Amino acid sequence: MEKEQVWRGHVVVIPYPSQGHINPLLQFAKRLASKGLKATIATTHYTVKSINTPIVSVEAISDGYDEGGVADAPDTDTYLKAFKSFGSKTLSQLIQKSETTASPVTCVIYDAFLPWALDVGLLTLPIKMEDLPLSIPGLYKLNYPDLPAFLKDPDSHPAYLAMLLGQFHNLHQADWILGNTFDDLELQFPAGEGISDLWKGTLIGPMIPSAYLDGQIEGDRGYGASLWKPLDDKCKKWLELKPAGSVAYVSFGSMVALTPKQMEEIAWGLKESGIHFLWVVKESERGKLPQGFIEATEEKGLVVTWCQQLELLENKAIGCFVTHCGWNSTLEALCLGVPMVGVPKFSDQYTNVKFIEEVWGVGVRAKEEEDGTVGREQLWFCLREVMNGKRSQEMRRNAVKCRELAKKAISEGGSSDNNINEFVSHVCSGGKEKVKEEKHMNGF
Ligand code: UDP
Repeated sequence: MEKEQVWRGHVVVIPYPSQGHINPLLQFAKRLASKGLKATIATTHYTVKSINTPIVSVEAISDGYDEGGVADAPDTDTYLKAFKSFGSKTLSQLIQKSETTASPVTCVIYDAFLPWALDVGLLTLPIKMEDLPLSIPGLYKLNYPDLPAFLKDPDSHPAYLAMLLGQFHNLHQADWILGNTFDDLELQFPAGEGISDLWKGTLIGPMIPSAYLDGQIEGDRGYGASLWKPLDDKCKKWLELKPAGSVAYVSFGSMVALTPKQMEEIAWGLKESGIHFLWVVKESERGKLPQGFIEATEEKGLVVTWCQQLELLENKAIGCFVTHCGWNSTLEALCLGVPMVGVPKFSDQYTNVKFIEEVWGVGVRAKEEEDGTVGREQLWFCLREVMNGKRSQEMRRNAVKCRELAKKAISEGGSSDNNINEFVSHVCSGGKEKVKEEKHMNGF
């Protein structure tokens, strides 16, 4: 019996469907096949029949003109747009189909005429458990639970994923890449080589109203923007009577919509913890609260539709923040020295919580059940841990340390303040200063 071929990997090669493009890429595919890779050439239905070579597989993708190819298109512009649209879809199907075979696609090689194939490759080539932990120079190793939601499950929010990946297309052309974080938060907790070798970002954060940090901008106590009406007086009055550090502030930010089950688990978890809580439940989420919950918890809790989060986090009565770990909420808690219980639900929140728990040591991550829900006992357990568990004091100390580092960064002479000054000089000089400096760095 013939032995099944063991491939070292599977490349799919996509040429623009003209002779001058097919020839060299087909030749390259043969070279790769001769070195032990499975090679597949993916070309349009119209051209697929023209290819016949024993060591390279051939698969058809669509350009929208399967009968006659480009000659059937009214003009080149229409053809290229159709190829992008039909080609993306059919290439993605081809890659996905390979997942069910013994040799799934591991690499996509695309013609420079077809840059959309890169997006398809990035969106479709899955991160496999064997690839984990994911190791990116300068970053902490990321295990499966730490990956942004879009990578863990690319089909969950395809439009967001495409938008995020799209950011990188022309990033190299931007004069500055400004990041809302600060050097000490990244560098005091080094992960190995500096990410700055790969990514020339300038850190200008934290972008938190000045009154909470350095006071350089007079009267700056709020962002000055609120999409919903905050119920500040109600919150302040309620907090006035609570002992210092006794209240859990709970909010899932502006975008997350909890499942009814998750809402119920949070609700009963808060009640059963016996801890005072102030919970922001947006009007659109209110219908998911268990019946009778507000009445049953009147003694211990306050539920509001929106608040000035920073003012709450600053309030002495707040002992911890149950958060979805949105980046702004994370930074705000760090800047006000409040430890966190992380309940991530979406996007980068899963990565942020890794830093909260493992890198900065300012909180814990609530463990999810298989369906992604954090159960009431788990919430209850995490609340106790952060409010008055064994590591509570250490988390508080770490949070205060982060607060001090944040203040230092944005205060006069701090790293972010210096970076902002440099940016301002660049803008004032009409862009000449940075160019001068880059030339200097490049040895001009
Ligand atoms: N926020 C607020 N009041 C609330 C809840 C949230 O002012 O009751 C603010 C919070 O201070 C933060 C922003 O809304 O600045 C939420 O941003 P984040 O990145 O944390 O989460 P997103 O809403 O983008 O998921």
